[in-house]
Amino acid sequence: MYGIATRLFRNTNHVRQILHNFQRSGHYLCKKLTFSKYGNPLDVVSLEEEEIKDDLQSNEVIVKMVASPIHPSDINYIEGKYAITVDSFPSLIGNEGLAEVVSTGSHVKNMQPGDYVIPFYNQSGTWRSHARLKETQLIKIRQDVPLMEGATMAVNPCTAYRLLLDFENLDPGDVIIQNAANSAVGQAVIQICKRRKITSVNIVRDRANLPELVEYLTRLGADIVLTEQQLRTTKIFKSGQVQWPRLALNAVCGASATELMRHIEDGTSLVTYGAMSRQPITVAPGKLIFRGITLHGFWLTDWNQMNIEAHARWEMLDQIQSMCVNGRLVAPRHTCVLIDNYREALRKASDPDGKCDRKQILVFDTSLVTKD
Ligand code: NDP
Repeated sequence: MYGIATRLFRNTNHVRQILHNFQRSGHYLCKKLTFSKYGNPLDVVSLEEEEIKDDLQSNEVIVKMVASPIHPSDINYIEGKYAITVDSFPSLIGNEGLAEVVSTGSHVKNMQPGDYVIPFYNQSGTWRSHARLKETQLIKIRQDVPLMEGATMAVNPCTAYRLLLDFENLDPGDVIIQNAANSAVGQAVIQICKRRKITSVNIVRDRANLPELVEYLTRLGADIVLTEQQLRTTKIFKSGQVQWPRLALNAVCGASATELMRHIEDGTSLVTYGAMSRQPITVAPGKLIFRGITLHGFWLTDWNQMNIEAHARWEMLDQIQSMCVNGRLVAPRHTCVLIDNYREALRKASDPDGKCDRKQILVFDTSLVTKD
């Protein structure tokens, strides 16, 4: 009831205060997903309950999570195959999500009950219904950012934003090429390109429902969508129909990365930010020696740490929020699954062939559950 009422009346301070007082009974029952050893998520993740007391330190805040996505990096973290390892078991899970402030300590000045916030520190453990955090571990976001956009804006759209800004100077009319174009990052790349008038060439894996996917990505703003097989033989660049891309974004590696390198302009960059195929990248020496292609890696976690107080970080978050508010950046295609049914969401998100189709988002209120 609390969640539905706050969604319906999220901008009404009076209703917020009533709900706030109603919940200030002193305790919150937190449902949380944890794991106690590395392994297959379906074997090692379990749902626990914990009582959170409302006896806050002056700088603390209690938040109620609204929605938390499941990312490939979360799966890798649970498997023990990620760059960040667990400090101590049992460990919380989840690195992104949207939360609503429900209670604040006496010295918390910038947040009040009803505000929407995102936890903004590594492995914040967002797969839980409630959390008691320091004010400094949270970023307040605009109240008019739609819920699922807010829950998914801090990782993938920020990655897309940086990939398109930090490696090549792209002007309107320039072309980029990306694989895993239907991933959450890929969908954000498409939408940011559209806004910046950059042409996007989008590579996806072949599938039974390809026309439906092409139509969806085109509606998002994709200029060209090709399968990996079509890219191998396409003449669109050689014929001059489309300019050679000036930036390639690689989330797959293996043969897919090799194909991207075959289709970019000399002297430009391939940026690797993911390795969904779990294959290495093979580079023909001529690409480096004669064609002057530069290979880069990108990790948002590193970028955030190095830019914690930087203007560039706030500017990025402002721009992404504005895009979400004006409908130019929509959440990736997703299914919202109640935390109690987490196994269903984990099964899809940890498919061994990566065939998930939609971002799985854990929600904590039945009113937000959706069907595929
Ligand atoms: P999603 O879960 O939204 O999508 C996964 C994508 O990977 C789909 O396009 C899927 O294609 C594709 N895929 C899965 N397995 C394979 C495979 N074996 N070969 C080719 N394609 C495959 O992913 P996200 O957008 O959340 O993340 C995408 C990648 O970006 C991940 O590797 C993630 O770790 C990385 N990432 C990196 C960041 C960084 O800072 N470096 C930040 C954010 C994400 P299909 O539909 O055909 O199955």
